[in-house]
Amino acid sequence: MVRCMRADVIVVGGGPAGLLTAYEVASAGFEVVVLEEHKSIGRPSHCAGLVSVKGLRRLGIRVPSKVIINDKILCATFVSPSGYRFDIGRGETQAYVIDRELFDRYLADLAEKKGVTVLTEHKVTDVRTSNQGRIRVSFKSTRGVIEAEAKCVVIAEGVSCRLSRRLGFAVPRVRLPAVQHDIEGGDANIDTVELHFGRRVAPGFFAWVIPLKSDTVRVGVAAYNFPRKRLKKFLIRRFRGSRFKILRKMGGRVITSGPVRRCVRGGVIIVGDTAGHVKPTTGGGVILGGICARIAGRTVAGFLEKNATDPRVLLSYDATWRRVLGREFSAMKMVRFLLNALTDKILDNLFKNMEFFHVDALLERYGDMDFQREVILRGMTSVRVLALALRSLIP
Ligand SMILES: Cc1cc2nc3c(=O)[nH]c(=O)nc-3n(C[C@H](O)[C@H](O)[C@H](O)COP(=O)(O)OP(=O)(O)OC[C@H]3O[C@@H](n4cnc5c(N)ncnc54)[C@H](O)[C@@H]3O)c2cc1C
Repeated sequence: MVRCMRADVIVVGGGPAGLLTAYEVASAGFEVVVLEEHKSIGRPSHCAGLVSVKGLRRLGIRVPSKVIINDKILCATFVSPSGYRFDIGRGETQAYVIDRELFDRYLADLAEKKGVTVLTEHKVTDVRTSNQGRIRVSFKSTRGVIEAEAKCVVIAEGVSCRLSRRLGFAVPRVRLPAVQHDIEGGDANIDTVELHFGRRVAPGFFAWVIPLKSDTVRVGVAAYNFPRKRLKKFLIRRFRGSRFKILRKMGGRVITSGPVRRCVRGGVIIVGDTAGHVKPTTGGGVILGGICARIAGRTVAGFLEKNATDPRVLLSYDATWRRVLGREFSAMKMVRFLLNALTDKILDNLFKNMEFFHVDALLERYGDMDFQREVILRGMTSVRVLALALRSLIP
């Protein structure tokens, strides 16, 4: 059966980026349809769920308590290859661990309240421009293959980038394979997230331990290769002597190369992971991806308000996200490049001397989980950081 559906905007993908874009466009009074391939929004989850309290505030989202698994993340412990560590914390909650499935569903509810139609089990197979400048979308659902038409299409398909690549968009260059387990029994502080660095543990990224409840933690590794094998080794090393049970296994891909250059082509735009709107330092994409998605939504609404005749209006999306976050992404990319270049020996030296040179205090004072450029710039011009670097680099 072939039918044709019409909407002002079609969003491909019901993750946070797609749903926030849809929310913004519908808030301006336009007709939006979100097409999600899976049966249920938020499933399967492939996220650690760590988001900053400030970031959620910046996104304008007040999450209900049922979405929050752990609301007491006060501190982050950074661990070097040989076990030197330093802590960054401010004595008050810095981050939440959220249930991504419930979070995405909450965003879908918010969007639906604004009038967005969210259709699950609708897998988009093709997107193309028709003669009249409208965009045609083909998708498979339980009712067969259906055609739809819209003035603008937003691709929010996540890290897969299948459709965006076919449409000629660039794909984020580095998408590291990641594996993560929820385990019961491992010892960890309920208020502290651990990040373990080193080429042996996780070349190209790090391993993480995120406390969920008093007896449950989320442990994961992203790396250039063999994440499963590396996670197995990491679990044995980190939880040596404890009896733990794996409750749940997840996987996915973490983007560390920053945004792609162009996010607009004709009447099609890309958002979220598809656009590489992810922090290159930590792989977190919910907050910054969400901020860019809201910019995308406002741009699309502006385009529709001008009667959607000239898709060049959409180009202001690229200009705006770059003005707001471009330098943030660039600064974080530089840090990611440096971290990847450091040997385990240098990392050990840096972590060992961090407290002595009071660099941890600088990170604590100016650090921000999402907007990291300020602390990076301060670090680059700090005598203390220079002294730490010299001490760590010179054998
Ligand atoms: C192991 C791991 C841990 C992470 N931890 C964190 C973290 O702690 N904090 C953080 O901020 N970020 C984290 N991230 C990153 C975060 O998960 C992503 O940045 C975020 O989910 C991106 O949102 P999105 O909407 O762009 O994509 P997604 O959340 O991936 O959503 C894309 C949606 O599109 C749908 N879709 C795809 N193709 C089609 C199609 N053809 N038709 C219809 N639907 C389609 C998918 O089913 C999916 O629902 C982590 C990532 C990984 C892999």
